[in-house]
Amino acid sequence: MSTLKEVGERDAWRCWLCDEPVDPGASVNADRAPSVDSGASPKGKKAAAGAERLAHRACNTRKGAVKPVVAWSPELFVVDPAPIVTTVERLTRKGGREVVARCPSRQDADKAAVWLLDRLSRFAPGLAVTTQVEAGGGQFLLVLRTL
Ligand SMILES: [Zn+2]
Repeated sequence: MSTLKEVGERDAWRCWLCDEPVDPGASVNADRAPSVDSGASPKGKKAAAGAERLAHRACNTRKGAVKPVVAWSPELFVVDPAPIVTTVERLTRKGGREVVARCPSRQDADKAAVWLLDRLSRFAPGLAVTTQVEAGGGQFLLVLRTL
């Protein structure tokens, strides 16, 4: 177990679920207060050491029995975006490539690719991935591929 301060500093005081800053000095009962997410795996196994991540108390509590949700930015034009948490879990386990969204234009797809890599660099820093944009069926597919 790491202390809240250690986890907070490692995650640069940013919530790993909603990607917004966490105030280390917030009242412990506040929704926006810092808390440590122990990162339990979906099967209920104990997560590996170092899997503890910093989250807002409210984000961590909401997680509870349901899977955490990492939202796609509302500023992106993406169709059928894949659930980020599930995709990351699968790629971490098996590797490979997955189509994670479809976009109406190459520009939209490139923008989504840049956003996704930046987001994943904080959400899943241990996962080495790259993005590819492929034209297909009059749309542009955003592909995530492990390195
Ligand atoms: Zn949060």
